[in-house]
Amino acid sequence: MADSRFNVTDLVELQMIENAISARLAEVEKVRDNKELISVEKEFAEVKEKFDEINRKYNDLESKRKKLEDTVEIQSEKIKSDEGKLFSGTITSSKELENYQEEIKMLKEGNLEMEDQILEIMIELEEMSEKIKAIQDEKDKVEAGVNRIKNEMNEKLEVLKNIVGGLKNRRDDVISRIPKDYLEKYKELKNKKGGIAVAVLKNDFCNVCNMQMPSVEAEKIDNADKVYRCPICGRMAIIFRDEIDNIKKELES
Ligand SMILES: [Zn+2]
Repeated sequence: MADSRFNVTDLVELQMIENAISARLAEVEKVRDNKELISVEKEFAEVKEKFDEINRKYNDLESKRKKLEDTVEIQSEKIKSDEGKLFSGTITSSKELENYQEEIKMLKEGNLEMEDQILEIMIELEEMSEKIKAIQDEKDKVEAGVNRIKNEMNEKLEVLKNIVGGLKNRRDDVISRIPKDYLEKYKELKNKKGGIAVAVLKNDFCNVCNMQMPSVEAEKIDNADKVYRCPICGRMAIIFRDEIDNIKKELES
């Protein structure tokens, strides 16, 4: 089964690269599944609702105040015009005079009452705007927390994305060096055997199933350029060489 078409170490390298990609993708999932972010985003939604609600109340009260101001202004104009008539000397009937006087009195009383209401509203608005400021500060603080967590998360994801990108390029490169029949065997075993198709034999032990080769088999395993089959777990197996440790170190860095 010696194959001069390629360096059998490429098979192990492909396996190690794919393991590294899986590990990094698991890290990506872990980074994305950020419990702190979920809880801070919930907190933000709550404080934002509180903020929107008090602003709504403030605006309602403010338009009530504006309406009262407008009514007072209209009534003041009416008082002015009524008083103008009263003092113009054109009113001759005492009944008409009385009616004007009565209207002026009612309008003035109405205005006084509304001015009291306006004052009360203004005090309430003043208190509310302090509360709004406090809630705004709280909202800003929580929002800054959300953004900080998101930024940290995105930085980590960016780093992982680059690492995975590099690993995928390296995988493509290795794949281009492996003959098609071995690649097919690799894929088949990977699917059948929990994602691990290639094993390394060191001191007669398989590094995947951790079993020792029977001595009859072990004696036959002596060619470093050959792809063997682990008699116990059935994976493709090659003899250990230092190069494998070097690749491992490269992939971990
Ligand atoms: Zn094995």
